[in-house]
Amino acid sequence: MRTWNKDIINKVDKEVELMGWVAVRRDHGKIIFIDLRDKTGINQLVFIPVKSEQSSDKNNVYEKANTLRPEWVIKIRGEVKKRPKGMENNNLKTGEYEIEVKDLEILNEAKTPPFSLDTDGYDINEETRMAYRYLDLRRQRLQKNLKARFQIIKFIRDYLTEKEFTEIETPIITKSTPEGARDYIIPARLQPGKFYALPQSPQQYKQLLMVAGTERYFQIARCFRDEDTRGDRQPEFTQLDIEMSFITQEEIMELIEEMFLNLVKKLYPEKKIKLASDGRIIRMSYKDAMEKYGSDKPDIRDNKDDKNELAFLFVVDFPMFEWKENEKRWDAAHHPFTQPKVKDAIEFQKLFKENPAKILAEQYDFVLNGFEVGGGSIRIHNSELLQAVFEAMGNKAKDIQEKFGHLLEAFNYGVPPHGGIAPGIDRLIMILENEPNIREVIAFPKTGDGRDLMMNAPSEIDKEQLKDLGLEIKNKE
Ligand code: ASP
Repeated sequence: MRTWNKDIINKVDKEVELMGWVAVRRDHGKIIFIDLRDKTGINQLVFIPVKSEQSSDKNNVYEKANTLRPEWVIKIRGEVKKRPKGMENNNLKTGEYEIEVKDLEILNEAKTPPFSLDTDGYDINEETRMAYRYLDLRRQRLQKNLKARFQIIKFIRDYLTEKEFTEIETPIITKSTPEGARDYIIPARLQPGKFYALPQSPQQYKQLLMVAGTERYFQIARCFRDEDTRGDRQPEFTQLDIEMSFITQEEIMELIEEMFLNLVKKLYPEKKIKLASDGRIIRMSYKDAMEKYGSDKPDIRDNKDDKNELAFLFVVDFPMFEWKENEKRWDAAHHPFTQPKVKDAIEFQKLFKENPAKILAEQYDFVLNGFEVGGGSIRIHNSELLQAVFEAMGNKAKDIQEKFGHLLEAFNYGVPPHGGIAPGIDRLIMILENEPNIREVIAFPKTGDGRDLMMNAPSEIDKEQLKDLGLEIKNKE
């Protein structure tokens, strides 16, 4: 039966079977040392040549070991031995032991990798790393990031499960929902001329789940936004999508506060968290943030060089609208479903006529070390007010019906007051793991211009597929 590398420490003087990759080979005189890597760590294998009069079997093992090269996949049988005094390797968890190999099977040979895998990899050209991502991911740093990601998501799942939340999947093939970016669209083969859109977020679905009586929803949700290149953005990213009914802004912030403070305490005990004097996450109005820091996501750390300092912050009281100069209209600063701080549609229309810039929203952003790691709001749950906001943003009645008729209709059937938030998982992990960008914490990220260099996507599709979809490519460069 196979033993994991990490478990040999419990098997001294016993025989074990190990499988994995050749990480490093070192020859000392006639002795061959192999660092064997599996998902749990590294072990040192020792191959000792035997005198010719001894069994030829053993010689075969040594001869075979002589052919081993980095990244070959092998299976061995051998005995776990304590290393001789002074030969221990303190950098390895199993560094006091080594394996005297008795049997070696080569499961697969490997070409020489295009870059080294036993460094942190930061200095290697990123495009090459992405093209060979399956090799890049073999490096320890990225293995650690993938595990950290899993642990963080697991913590969140467990935490919210305890709090009466239900995790619900929402469609990926759907209709456009505005979050301020371009949609990725999918031609609908069975409805020629029509298109689905990939969700920029599950925003409308989660609100409809509140109409459906779910009350507490979350999802580790993939979001798709066709945006231009930016360092910490990806065409698809993951967010912890949350929505709750019968809830206040303060209660949502408290939930997030408690969850993330506990998460850091449990998974990153070495980190120092900067808090307000009452032990809470600092809260700041948008106005104060802009006046004091000139930013709506200020980095309020005391010492920005300290990689173990975390400064969470809630920015509240955002303006509801921002002026879009190129479109000559007022647009929602967060999204149009956000509750403006008004009593009803009539008061909203009056205030909008007076000065749209002055209307505040029940919107809050969650900031960490100067990054916006999440945003949310209390939602409009009154269909007249929602209609008025859509109109204020320059939508014609016909467009409103076409784009949001389903939501307005649903809101006629007893919608609870509700609100939510969506912390970005990628950015959060990036910061917790002290990584310079989110690509380092995503298994298969895309380049800044949206290419998957490993799969070679996007790619052309054949004529038949185009025909099926009723599409024609016009201006191909
Ligand atoms: N849908 C929002 C977003 O993706 C989050 C929210 O309002 O809950 O940013």
